[in-house]
Amino acid sequence: MKKQKKKTLALIAHDGKKALMVSFVRDHLETFKNFTLVGTGNTGRLIQAAGLKVTRRLSGPLGGDAQIAAEVATGKCQGVIFFRDPLGMHPHDPDISMLMRICDVHNVPLATNPATAELLITGLSHD
Ligand code: PGA
Repeated sequence: MKKQKKKTLALIAHDGKKALMVSFVRDHLETFKNFTLVGTGNTGRLIQAAGLKVTRRLSGPLGGDAQIAAEVATGKCQGVIFFRDPLGMHPHDPDISMLMRICDVHNVPLATNPATAELLITGLSHD
């Protein structure tokens, strides 16, 4: 039987949510190993330090969110975990909105908090 290709998951966390992302990843390390991971620059580095292989894109404010949106739009990314900081101001707000819009356009699951992220990784692991 042909081995199924791993699904690609993108991981992004704003500065105020990076600690949350790292603890979420640590709590689900074995599940994350079933995915190919991409991440924005600084988030990706922290997840690498937690022990996972991550292909890093640019940092969010430099276009990393836009790169990930392009991957969603072209069918290269099957899920996005984006821990946004709802209390912060971000110079790249247009890119953040664009990424969320692209996920909706292409019906790609997007989780913005740990509760939905847990559902997302569980769901994508099983289908
Ligand atoms: P970063 O980007 O992981 O490079 O910090 C995240 C963001 O702010 O969108």
